[in-house]
Amino acid sequence: MNELAKRVIEISGQNVYACYQCGCCSAGCMFTEKMDILPNQAIALIQRGDKSVLEKETPWICASCFVCTVRCPRGLDVAAIMEALREIKIRERDFIRVDLRKIENIEKLPQIAITAVAQKFTW
Ligand code: SF4
Ligand code: SF4
Repeated sequence: MNELAKRVIEISGQNVYACYQCGCCSAGCMFTEKMDILPNQAIALIQRGDKSVLEKETPWICASCFVCTVRCPRGLDVAAIMEALREIKIRERDFIRVDLRKIENIEKLPQIAITAVAQKFTW
């Protein structure tokens, strides 16, 4: 098993090798127009150990809507795989430096916004 797949499996708990590239996940994803590769293509790159997947926009465009996860005939939580790709980048760069105390009117923000700022687009 390649290093990248090992890390994705470790973080997501999903066996990326179970994916047989049917494309059902991508067919249901509402955000593919904005993505640079399709979700199933991202998984194919992970299977091959191709780290270029970590430089793609796709995991960051992913809205964690779980449509792909519901559609996958192999029972893969594709959203969790996208999350794992983001996690790997975040851990590599160590760029999470969000001081929530400095965000103005934080008490008025919905909880999901606070979670999102801690997870995405933080560099
Ligand atoms: S969880 Fe992400 S990849 Fe899956 S359908 Fe939603 S936006 Fe697309
Ligand atoms: S739906 Fe599942 S098996 Fe099909 S391409 Fe997507 S992840 Fe792979």
